Amino acid sequence: MEVILAKNAGFCPGVKRAVDKALAYKDVPHTYTLGALIHNPVFLKRLEDIGIRSIEFDEILAELDAIAPKTMHLILRTHGVPKEQETALRALASESGRLDIIDMTCPFVKNIHRIAEENTSDKTAFIHFCHKDHPEALGNMSYAKGEKYAISSLDELKMLNLDGKIPILCSQTTENLVEFKKIKNFLKNLYTNAIFFDTICSVTEIRQTEATALAKVSDGMIVIGGKNSSNTQKLFALCKEHCKETICIESASEIPKDFPIGKQKIGITAGASTPGDIITEVLKLWK
Ligand code: SF4
Repeated sequence: MEVILAKNAGFCPGVKRAVDKALAYKDVPHTYTLGALIHNPVFLKRLEDIGIRSIEFDEILAELDAIAPKTMHLILRTHGVPKEQETALRALASESGRLDIIDMTCPFVKNIHRIAEENTSDKTAFIHFCHKDHPEALGNMSYAKGEKYAISSLDELKMLNLDGKIPILCSQTTENLVEFKKIKNFLKNLYTNAIFFDTICSVTEIRQTEATALAKVSDGMIVIGGKNSSNTQKLFALCKEHCKETICIESASEIPKDFPIGKQKIGITAGASTPGDIITEVLKLWK
């Protein structure tokens, strides 16, 4: 049996930067992440074990009072924060003098914030191809002015009436590239004034292409990553399209005992927020 690990699997540069920064705060009391730092429960448990816990936006004031006069260190995750929340946090930091904001928003996400802010007005309709409830999508949408729509498929786009507006299309960083191209082409044919921004991050693009190629030649595929990780679920859907025997797991213990039976070639890939040692654990099963 042959086991092949995709070349680009596990932490992407954006996640690695955020994770390294969080781990550097290991011995710093009152360090928090605003929401889950990454969508990986195994890693989140590790952070909790070293005293870094996740806090929600509406809990911050009370927590700041509770730890007074100490300083709160607050890590903003790669997905970014809605504009109103970030403005409120910066104001609180300057008023209190006890809120240290460590902004780990990925530069690819920051770029979407800038695009949304600088290119939208009451003349435009901002169309965001995204996973609607995902924190990144909520943040991206918050920067757009005028009409705005979050869509998750071409069918949803077809239901919109954009007459009289300039459509501005961009995508969540981890969206499906093939679907995005379909949406873009549809819009291009219908609205000559539409403006497009290709904002799927290059890391996501490479992973999806690589995972698809690997799934096509594998008898079984394993996708490792959090069940609530958008990019992991996109990889899973893509692999499943090309390899029926695809499973998605958070750790090695979830692999069904009979999974490899009769399979000649197993392909393995992992989402952008999957720690390297979890991938190694899976690989060890075949050593
Ligand atoms: S997947 Fe791309 S956009 Fe998301 S954190 Fe990684 S590098 Fe940044």
